[in-house]
Amino acid sequence: MTEARLTLDLDALAANHATLKARAGSAEIAPAVKADAYGLGAATVANRLWLEGARSFYVARLSEGVALRQALGDRDATIYVLDGATPGSGDTLEGAKLTPVLNSLPQIEAWNAQARSGRLKAALHLDTGMNRLGLRPEELKVLLGAFDRLKRLDLELVISHLACADLPDSPMSARQLERFEETTALLPGVRRSLANSAGLFLGEAYRFDQARPGISLYGGGPEGAPHPDIRAVATVEAPILQVRVVPRGESVGYGAGWTAPETTRVAILAAGYADGVLRSSHPNGQAWFDGARRRMLGRVSMDLIAIDITDCDAARPGAMVELFGPNLPIDEAASAAGTSAYELLTRIAPRARKAVLGGG
Ligand SMILES: *Cc1c(COP(=O)(O)O)cnc(C)c1O
Repeated sequence: MTEARLTLDLDALAANHATLKARAGSAEIAPAVKADAYGLGAATVANRLWLEGARSFYVARLSEGVALRQALGDRDATIYVLDGATPGSGDTLEGAKLTPVLNSLPQIEAWNAQARSGRLKAALHLDTGMNRLGLRPEELKVLLGAFDRLKRLDLELVISHLACADLPDSPMSARQLERFEETTALLPGVRRSLANSAGLFLGEAYRFDQARPGISLYGGGPEGAPHPDIRAVATVEAPILQVRVVPRGESVGYGAGWTAPETTRVAILAAGYADGVLRSSHPNGQAWFDGARRRMLGRVSMDLIAIDITDCDAARPGAMVELFGPNLPIDEAASAAGTSAYELLTRIAPRARKAVLGGG
């Protein structure tokens, strides 16, 4: 087999869940499993996290919520849909017992109207400065002045999202925290949720009643760099197809992107754009093989990349080379390609074979 391989380590996922839970104190951990659990497989991930005690999950799209409800079967999980009650989504949300995170006054009206035959659960998103989704403070005042817009809704939770949680020195998080405290004081008795993964590393003030970690469950450090408490969950490897010797002065790959300053042994790997290796991996990309980091040479191709294996005797066709995983942290692989662990994970292409370690 010459496909790249994505290995999902469910025991490492469970360990990260336990680490984040310890940081959350008495707050609930509600995993973000949107974008197919950041590319790792929402059904597999959510099923294991359910065994670890998770009872609430976040998805982005309506379709993700429907699929997750199906994957969880008759388990009594709360599934929050971050896109909220988008136009035309009402019957599907209600049918799959999904809880929309209402983002705007029209969404609140639509979901309240949907509840004509009984009460429906809802969460509310307040914007505290990110200007992405959620009610602005002045819109919250409008809502509070016309509370009957919520009269058929069981408002279970109010959330906001931090723009700079991964930058602990930024004053933005403290400002958002303050605004969240102020605005949620207008909704007494409603549970509150502010922190993503990085927010859980900002201190106890950010815990509230529920945290919504994603990336650090999946092995990304809270500040975009490896963290000693967070384990690798995803490993991407690709097999060597061929080992060759490139004489001094000859080049490797499209655009003759790298020229050998001296005779170099090169391994050609069965991985490329179509497996999620980013073009920007050139020129700083690395791989790990036989106990050491190896640099990528030349440009990425559709299906191939080259690495330097000079002074490495173990390289032979079929041997697997790690592109990120326990030996080459995903945050470092991402930095080398000028991107984030979020993007690397969600780019892994369907062509990669999937393997799962650990039960659940
Ligand atoms: C994606 C997302 C999260 C999870 O963020 P991470 O940085 O992956 O921990 C939490 N809350 C909201 C609203 C999100 O969109």
